[in-house]
Amino acid sequence: MAASVYRASLRGLTAPLSSPTAAALTPGLPFSAASIAGRLWTSDELPKGRRRVTGSTRRLSSEVHVGRTWREPPSFAFAFDIDGVLLHVAKPIPGAPEVLRFLDDNNIPFILLTNGGGKHETERVRDLGEKLGVQLSTDNFVQSHTPFRELLEGPDSLRDKMVLVTGSDYEKCRAIFHEYGFRNVITPADIYAADPTIFPFQSPSSYTTPSQPLPRPLFNGNTHPSPIFTPTHPSSHLKVDAIFVLNDPRDWALDIQVITDLLLSHAGYAGTYSPRNNDPSSPNAGWQRDGQPPLYFSNADLLWSAGYHLPRFGQGAFQAALAGIWRRITGGKAELERVRIGKPYGETYRFAERVLGRHRSEVLRVMGHPGSAAGKLRTVYMVGDNPESDIAGANGYSSGEGTEWVSVLVRTGVWSEARGGGLEGVYKPREVVDDVAAAVSWGAEVSL
Ligand SMILES: [Mg+2]
Repeated sequence: MAASVYRASLRGLTAPLSSPTAAALTPGLPFSAASIAGRLWTSDELPKGRRRVTGSTRRLSSEVHVGRTWREPPSFAFAFDIDGVLLHVAKPIPGAPEVLRFLDDNNIPFILLTNGGGKHETERVRDLGEKLGVQLSTDNFVQSHTPFRELLEGPDSLRDKMVLVTGSDYEKCRAIFHEYGFRNVITPADIYAADPTIFPFQSPSSYTTPSQPLPRPLFNGNTHPSPIFTPTHPSSHLKVDAIFVLNDPRDWALDIQVITDLLLSHAGYAGTYSPRNNDPSSPNAGWQRDGQPPLYFSNADLLWSAGYHLPRFGQGAFQAALAGIWRRITGGKAELERVRIGKPYGETYRFAERVLGRHRSEVLRVMGHPGSAAGKLRTVYMVGDNPESDIAGANGYSSGEGTEWVSVLVRTGVWSEARGGGLEGVYKPREVVDDVAAAVSWGAEVSL
């Protein structure tokens, strides 16, 4: 994906060559200009035909800037968390825009790796660019739910399957999944609207959440003698093949009810009850062993830093609530089985590493450094404010490419020494710094 975008952007290189001298480098560098200047080609050494991108309309880091041509292009990159690192309550953290421009101007790959979500990548990047005062691209932007797109590929593709999605705004979740390419998307509001008795604490007359008609009828226990599934039940009822928590749910009670119903069902048929549940002779006592839909969470953060002076519940709190109820329902015999992505889980870091590697390969190709090891990054600095996600994820991740992930914790976000933020074991960062500018300065000095 990214490589083709980079190629497309390279076709627009028409500006004259410029000299990559120390004086031409961005003023106010986060680290010494001299340390970089000696590592750049002079204009005489620039490979013939190399041209520099100029102009105000370029999108940050979607392009290779040939005017800043390294003798040996840096084999390190940065991954930045957003909230608490680049932004705090929608305002840029001082130094953040300058740092991104600096990395971009010097062809040092970076990726924005957030556990946030709830908007399509295009919309989120536009908002973020406006808040930071820089123009960003979706090429190197990963939200918590971005890797869900990979579930559209391969023989087990969910493209034509029925998926239930929840999050902060049901219709927005549905729209994002449709844009990703999922064709059959329903929400808890659709199920509630089809049969309000599913959630008796809500009055149907006062329920204003938008919904859409279900593509198939719900199994109706009133017309069947028992909700226990038997082979005589018609299969024309609503069957859910996967459940996704896209971002932080708002209607916890309805969501937990609907999701739990599906996890107790036969094969995802809403309104049925699996006869295997609580069967001591079955593995896992039969729980989630009857073809129930897999459950995906995009973000495990228990807490996050918002406008209030103390941290607030995140999607991880919703997950903990659901898991706690599941433990009670199963009598403690089974843990909630689910798939978790987003930081600190490895799949998100693998996804990020692939994107960074593609960018580096493109930098090397354009700058005349092709080779078999072209895309290999020696180091990625993960700069984050949350020890439980950003730091633990980087520390625990094992790269298949031999890339070392180095964790750097900043003091501008959710973590605070004053609140007793002990940093032990997997939560202990390689370095603690004041802010994102100091993090880039430290990482670059270590690597150069
Ligand atoms: Mg954060």
